[in-house]
Amino acid sequence: MADSQNFDLVVIGAGPGGYVAAIRAAQLGMNVACVEKESTLGGTCLNVGCIPSKALLESSELYAQAKEKFQDHGIGLKDLSIDMKKFIDRKDKVVKQLTGGIAGLFKKNKITSIFGTAQVGRDRSVSVTTKDGVAQLLAKHVIIATGSQPIAIPGVEMDGKTIIDSTGALNLSEVPGTMLVIGGGVIGLELGSVYARLGSKIIVLEALDRIAPSLDVEVGKTFQRILSKQGMEFHLSTKVKKAVSKGNQVEVTVEAEGKESVIVCDKVLVAVGRKPYVTGLGLAEAGIKLDERGRIDVNDHFETSLKGVYAIGDVIKGAMLAHKASEEGVALVEQLAGQAGHVNYHTIPSVVYTWPEVASVGFTEEEAKAKGVDYKVSKFPFLASGRAIAMNEKDGFVKLIADKKTDRLLGAHILGPRASDMIAELVIAMEFGSSAEDIARTCHAHPTLAESVKEAALGLGTGAIHI
Ligand code: NAD
Repeated sequence: MADSQNFDLVVIGAGPGGYVAAIRAAQLGMNVACVEKESTLGGTCLNVGCIPSKALLESSELYAQAKEKFQDHGIGLKDLSIDMKKFIDRKDKVVKQLTGGIAGLFKKNKITSIFGTAQVGRDRSVSVTTKDGVAQLLAKHVIIATGSQPIAIPGVEMDGKTIIDSTGALNLSEVPGTMLVIGGGVIGLELGSVYARLGSKIIVLEALDRIAPSLDVEVGKTFQRILSKQGMEFHLSTKVKKAVSKGNQVEVTVEAEGKESVIVCDKVLVAVGRKPYVTGLGLAEAGIKLDERGRIDVNDHFETSLKGVYAIGDVIKGAMLAHKASEEGVALVEQLAGQAGHVNYHTIPSVVYTWPEVASVGFTEEEAKAKGVDYKVSKFPFLASGRAIAMNEKDGFVKLIADKKTDRLLGAHILGPRASDMIAELVIAMEFGSSAEDIARTCHAHPTLAESVKEAALGLGTGAIHI
C-alpha cells in the first residue's frame, strides 16, 4: 500500500460547503486536501444547480422581456428568435468560468485537490479511488460535504431524454411544446419558468394543496397567481401514478380527488426534492450514524458519531441551500481552529429565482402563529413604489412580521423584482436584533425598490407614507 499523505484537514466534496470550508481552513493556516468525485470543482451548485439555472433564468427573462415587455416601453422588435445552442453554450461558459475560478482559489490557498471517490476509514483515514489508483490520506479532521442528489419517484423512471431531472433540464436542445413538472417546489418553479418564458406550456403537478410549501401562505398564494398569469398551469393535491415514454412523448397518469386521468406531454421534469448523497462513503463500516431521514447525524459542533469526522451542508439536517452549507463550513473550521464559529439558522435567507423573485428570512406568519408569538404584520405593495412603477414591475409586496410588544423583527418576505438582493437588508436587520422602527428610521435612497422595505416597516409603527 502507498504511504499515506498527511493533512490537517481532508474535505470530501468540493461544493459550496466543502470548497468554502477548505479555503477558510487554509486561510486559518491548515494544510488542506479536498477530494471531489466529479472532474470539476464547485459541486451541484456551480455545475448543475444554482449557477447554471441562474444563467438560463437570466437569458430566458431577457427573451421574455423582449417578447412581452419591450413594447410597453415603446421598443419594437422584429423577428425575435431563440438559438438554443447559444442559450445552452452561454450557460456552460458561465459554469466553466466559475468552476475554473475555484481551481484558481485552491491554487492560491495551496489546497491539494484530489479527483476521485473517497471512502472514510475509522482512524480519520480517507482512501480515494482515482483514475491512477487508490490514494491514502490521513487527517487530524475530516469533513464530509457530499451534498445531495435528486429523489426519484416510483413509476416515473428517468431516462434522461423525455423524463428528466434538473440536470437534464439544463441541457435541452430544443424548447419542449409541453413540459409536465412533477413537484411545485423551488426547482420545478425556477426551471418551469425558464421554459415557460421560451414558449413551453408548463403544467406543474404538486402533491400538496399549495406550491412552494415552505413559503408564507399568503406569499405563496399571490406567487401562484402571478405565475398562473404568466401561463403556468397548476394541478394541486395531485398524485402521479406513472409516466410512460411513447416515442418522443410521455403519458403521465395522475390522480386527483380520487379520479385518474392521463396527461400527454413532450417532457417530464421530476423535481420532488433531493436526498443526502452518502453513496460509497463507507459510513456504516466506519461507524458513522445516519438519522431517521438518511442524513448524517451530527452534534451541535457538526461532529458525526465518529470522533474527528464532521459533516455539513445538504448531507445533514436543515435547509438544502448552498449558503447554509458555506456558513456551516466556515463555522466548523473556525471552531476547529479554536475560534468561535457560529451559524444563526434563524437568519438564513431563502430565495426562489423566478420573476418576480421570492425571498424570505425568519418566521412565516404561520410559524409565528404556531409558536404562540404575539405578532403584528405589515405589507407594502410594489404597486405603490415609484421605482417599481417606473420599471413596470408592480406585482408583489414586502411583508414584515414583528413582535407586537418589543417591535423586534421576526420575519420578512419579499415577493417582487430583485427580492433576492433586497432581502439582505432584512437579514442584517434580524442578525442585529433590529426593531421595525430601526428600519423605518433608516434613510433609504429614492427612488429604489428598497424603499418598499422601509414603507412596510413604517406600516408596523407610525404608518406608511405612500399608501
Ligand atoms: P422542494 O422540496 O423545494 O420541492 C419539492 C416539491 O415536490 C414539494 O412541493 C413537494 O410537496 C412536491 N412533491 C414531492 N413528491 C411529489 C410527488 N410524488 N408528486 C408531486 N409533487 C411532489 O424540492 P426541489 O424543488 O426538488 O429542490 C430540492 C432542494 O434543492 C430543495 O431543498 C431546495 O430548497 C433546493 N434548491 C434551492 C434553490 C434555491 O435556493 N433557489 C434552487 C433549487 C433547489
